[in-house]
Amino acid sequence: MFDSSPITRETVAALDQQDVLAPLRDNFDLPEGLLYFDGNSLGPLLHDSRERVAETLQQHWGRDLIQSWNRHGWIDLPRRVGAKIARLIGAQPDEVIVSDSTSVNLYKLLAAALELRPDRSVILSQPSQFPTDLYMAQGLAELRHPRPELRLAEGDNLLSALDSDVAVVSLSHVDFKTGERADLQRITQAAHKHGALVLWDLSHSAGAMDVGLAAADADLAVGCTYKFLNGGPGAPAYVYVARRLQDRAQSPLWGWFGHQDPFAFDTQYQPATGIDRFQCGTPPILSLVAVDAALNLFEQVELSQIRQKSVHLGNLLIALVEQQCPGFDLTLASPQDASIRGSQVSLRHPAGYQIMQALIERGVVGDFRAPDILRFGLTPLYQRFIDVWKAVEVLRDILEHRSWDQPEFERRGKVT
Ligand SMILES: *Cc1c(COP(=O)(O)O)cnc(C)c1O
Repeated sequence: MFDSSPITRETVAALDQQDVLAPLRDNFDLPEGLLYFDGNSLGPLLHDSRERVAETLQQHWGRDLIQSWNRHGWIDLPRRVGAKIARLIGAQPDEVIVSDSTSVNLYKLLAAALELRPDRSVILSQPSQFPTDLYMAQGLAELRHPRPELRLAEGDNLLSALDSDVAVVSLSHVDFKTGERADLQRITQAAHKHGALVLWDLSHSAGAMDVGLAAADADLAVGCTYKFLNGGPGAPAYVYVARRLQDRAQSPLWGWFGHQDPFAFDTQYQPATGIDRFQCGTPPILSLVAVDAALNLFEQVELSQIRQKSVHLGNLLIALVEQQCPGFDLTLASPQDASIRGSQVSLRHPAGYQIMQALIERGVVGDFRAPDILRFGLTPLYQRFIDVWKAVEVLRDILEHRSWDQPEFERRGKVT
């Protein structure tokens, strides 16, 4: 995309002129002047989501109360929203349902996978996984008898750790720290060759690229809706179970919403057929309505357009950091090769935390991941190329003047 001549502000401004996704930014309520690079952690508010939530509060909850479950279709929201997500991850509409959090859904699907492979006892994962993915496996292993083994292997060693004891491989599609994208198809195939299932965590890929679950013959997946899907803080997560596994896969959490007929109030649990059995309790309607509204925007775009812009944003950010910030101890933690990079650029610096705090104070909002990673999320639905230019200008200024080197930037909030 860039030849060896220096990138100028004009070249970057021209990229925005040519950007077919540029008009979509108007759908978002973004604070004036803010350069937001944290949409991979918490997507921004859409005008439509605000309106839908307000209508749900005032008209539905406020006026129609309990009747809203039928009259306004609350009861079907987990399936309806699941179907919208299905399109984004390359699944069938009846293979995805929205329920609980990603953490809880990991637990459900790990347990289901162990039941589907009763003669096997290993959960294979990576030490670099998002911690909750490991914790849920550790907690599950502790409760089960006989105790499954949590086997950890990184990178190339992962595939060699596959054997006939592995029931399920649990992996992130895109690494939350480095942004490295795993080869979903190749790993799924390799696991299948050994008779193992794969559980993919799509938290950092859904909504930023085509995931292609069906094309990879994927088994199980989970993911967040509050990151690239812009569903709002704490919005419920989703569960994907391939159709071919649905009548055998069982949730370990036998809540009434997963019952075949919840309103029969039967004393004995009977799992619903299909993906519905992966619901547990009453869904959080206000959050679901916000997710539902936010997902409509994706109907207006092709995932390939989103991916293409994401790659360009990433290439630009990397090229500008190289051009503007040499000699400041910054190193690239993400792959240079866009084909194995997700939708973020991560940089390492020994003073990463302070630098990020200094950036945030100047209106460039990314985040920090211990021990030394500055993360910049790339979100093609609302980011502009000029935002990347401006952010790198601020970064250079902070590094040049060492303005990060102040006690106020060392204070850590509970959330980094
Ligand atoms: C964000 C994220 C989570 C978060 O899980 P919650 O239960 O929603 O807190 C889990 N796994 C991965 C890979 C994530 O990126």
